[in-house]
Amino acid sequence: CQKCLSLIKKTKFLNAYITVSEEVALKQAEESEKRYKKGHSLGDLDGIPVAIKDNFSTSGIETTCASNMLKGYVPPYNATVVQKLLDQGALLIGKTNLDEFAMGSGSTDGVFGPVKNPWNYSKQYREKRKQKPHGENEDSNWLITGGSSGGSAAAVSAFTCFAALGSDTGGSTRNPAANCGVVGLKPSYGLVSRHGLIPLVNSMDVPGILTRCVDDAAIVLGILAGHDPKDSTSVQDPVKPFMLPNLTDLSKLCIGIPKEYLVPELSSEVQSLWFKAANLFESGGAKVIEVSLPHTSYSIVCYQVLCTSEVASNMARFDGLEYGYRCDIDVSTEAMYAATRREGFNDVVKGRILAGNFFLLKENYENYFIKAQKVRRLIANDFVNVFNSGVHVLLTPTILSEAVPYVEFIKEDNRTRSAQNDIFTQAVNMAGLPAVSVPMALSDQGLPIGLQFIGRAFCDQQLLTVAKWFE
Ligand code: GLN
Repeated sequence: CQKCLSLIKKTKFLNAYITVSEEVALKQAEESEKRYKKGHSLGDLDGIPVAIKDNFSTSGIETTCASNMLKGYVPPYNATVVQKLLDQGALLIGKTNLDEFAMGSGSTDGVFGPVKNPWNYSKQYREKRKQKPHGENEDSNWLITGGSSGGSAAAVSAFTCFAALGSDTGGSTRNPAANCGVVGLKPSYGLVSRHGLIPLVNSMDVPGILTRCVDDAAIVLGILAGHDPKDSTSVQDPVKPFMLPNLTDLSKLCIGIPKEYLVPELSSEVQSLWFKAANLFESGGAKVIEVSLPHTSYSIVCYQVLCTSEVASNMARFDGLEYGYRCDIDVSTEAMYAATRREGFNDVVKGRILAGNFFLLKENYENYFIKAQKVRRLIANDFVNVFNSGVHVLLTPTILSEAVPYVEFIKEDNRTRSAQNDIFTQAVNMAGLPAVSVPMALSDQGLPIGLQFIGRAFCDQQLLTVAKWFE
């Protein structure tokens, strides 16, 4: 715990943490040590430092969603997933940085500033850069972590904790995992409780898990999975522990390669690693086939209609009365609401609230919201059809390229960036499927590249078993 805390201090420039809960973690560590010395039974995570994305409620610890709106907000309760980690003896070392309310794919849009990718400072990358410098001043060319759980991915990647919670609504756990060279798991929708995860899109949000290897992700998933009476969308069926066997025989495994994912924007390096991975499975004895997900091209726009509509409704609770920020204006309640929201939210959040309210207008509702819900069903059915044809797991890229420099990333507006970056990840959320990003190799520049596996709903164990073989 002390080592992790000192690494957090050393890597402060990454801006991975919003709050470092040093006192809490040290006290928990002491208690854990006492349990150990007294010979009491230990939890699966006893004494292990974990970090939590700052959009999960943590009792007694500030929870900001990287927004002015919630600055200073200290929840009176723990999210179910946080409580489950603590019940297993985990040490809560800090709250990690993100895009405001998890809206984004770079971890560049939070009120506490952007997160820097630890690989920017890796020996490999620095050595390569001497031969191929990005520019004159290397500091102005630092790389983003991806997002929106960039703080959690950077925290795990920089060895400041052993596991971190992220959230994943359209790729926010898998995207930064790929950028930062760690494992990022998005469990099946409904397998893990969302109670205490401050919502972005209720019908797509899931708590995500970031670790350094697939086995660790499986251990954490085993702890988190299961019904929660406080989340009506969590599964009722009892969940068995996640034990990952070592796959030795791949002959019964069928891997699908969705042809629509070969998009022109995909970097040639990611593409060649993707095909190389497919060949690895084939030479290991698996059947690898090309499959079609014909509605893929609608997924980004469909996501945007559904996401902004749910955002418009979700964000209504931040009115200056119940939580967090309240402006000084008191001429009328309406004026107070308006000024609080104007000052409290950033432009990305405000833009989504406006768009969502537009789609939900009486005259637009059928044409946008209802239509998008129908398209969502078609997208989900594409996956069902592929899995029903005998495919066990899909293999795809996670993101288009290796991590990009911040200066490049912010050239486009947030909506365009999400649209480009989430092309391989968003459809999975609309279909509620489990998916995991696993680091595969380093690029020519010395930066990590991750690939994504997508599984059948509630076949998280099978998905992780295949990912483990690959890892
Ligand atoms: N980039 C997507 C968005 O901004 C997904 C975010 C997420 O998964 N939290 O909506």
